Amino acid sequence: MTNKLYLDNSYIKEFTATVLSCTENGENYDVILDATAFFAEGGGQASDKGEINGVAVLDVQENGENVIHTLSAPLNVGDTVKGEIDWELRLSRMQNHCAEHILSGVIHKMFGYNNVGFHMNDSLVTFDVDGPLTAEDIERVEKEANKAVFTNAEISVSYPTVEQFAKIDCRSKIELADGVRLITVDGFDTCACCAPHPMRAGEIGIIKIVNFCAFKGGTRIEMVAGGLALNDYAYLHNAAKTIMKQLSAKREEIAEQVQKTGDDLATAKAEIKALNEQLAKASLSTEMVGNTLVGFTKEADFNTLRNIANGKIEKAEYIALFAETADGFNYLVASKTGDTRGIAKALNENFSGKGGGKPDCVQGKIAKTDKLNIVNIFKKS
Ligand SMILES: [Zn+2]
Repeated sequence: MTNKLYLDNSYIKEFTATVLSCTENGENYDVILDATAFFAEGGGQASDKGEINGVAVLDVQENGENVIHTLSAPLNVGDTVKGEIDWELRLSRMQNHCAEHILSGVIHKMFGYNNVGFHMNDSLVTFDVDGPLTAEDIERVEKEANKAVFTNAEISVSYPTVEQFAKIDCRSKIELADGVRLITVDGFDTCACCAPHPMRAGEIGIIKIVNFCAFKGGTRIEMVAGGLALNDYAYLHNAAKTIMKQLSAKREEIAEQVQKTGDDLATAKAEIKALNEQLAKASLSTEMVGNTLVGFTKEADFNTLRNIANGKIEKAEYIALFAETADGFNYLVASKTGDTRGIAKALNENFSGKGGGKPDCVQGKIAKTDKLNIVNIFKKS
């Protein structure tokens, strides 16, 4: 049996214990100690990382009354060993896990919704509640949750009896049983949980909801707290500073200036497109070859070719347009009455091309060739 030290004290970073067993597990070794501060995976939180006697702990799982540490090297049964948990990682997980308790508790109090899903990795916490929330609701929830931090609310662990438990306003719906471990954030939440938590909400640091969306009739919320929230703030702050510098914008003008720059860019792009089209039209030279109006122009994209073709569609049975590019031609062939696909096939075959389309219009690219060779294709057909 392993004594789970983290249940009574979340702050044990180093401990000594005796090795009860060590068995091979593939390339690794499963070690059971008489006591451990390593949190075994559970309740949506990953197992602690760290070292035992300098050997990396790869995984920690509960198995009945034992905690199994998977290590990359064996330990001697009977030896006293020193365990050391990765405290930075553990603290971040405690901050974020507990912040989720508080947010869920606040949402439950404000709206009566239940937490119906929880996932935590080392950069983000995601949880789901079973009711809709608006942006204003989210803002209120976030403010209220941070009150727990600013007032440094006490966080306590208790193991009520069935009778005591029946009288407690507990958020999680669990079966009444002796020995349930309850985590209470004073004034904000009470919830059954097996994971380590800080003793005061001040240790959690800022609680920030970074995203939310409608999900299965409820709401999916993404959040960060503590160190992760600081990292997120630093990242966004640096990004904002770069944008401010680029746009010569003041802090309070960032969003407005980005919007204005986007609008200006869209206007400029539309102007360039119109000018390119004018240029393509101005440089267009056409000749009738059989029943096809064949035209050549300088660089033009397919949209421009399509617009030019639409303007000339009544002039011949087929309109075949070619725009010079760095390595060949873009082509577009259109017809109101004929089938253009045969022309695409002939162009592709003769000039290492690619492209196709529907009977009324084909488009594609062909390799560099003399314009006369292209014109000859239409003489043959
Ligand atoms: Zn918890």
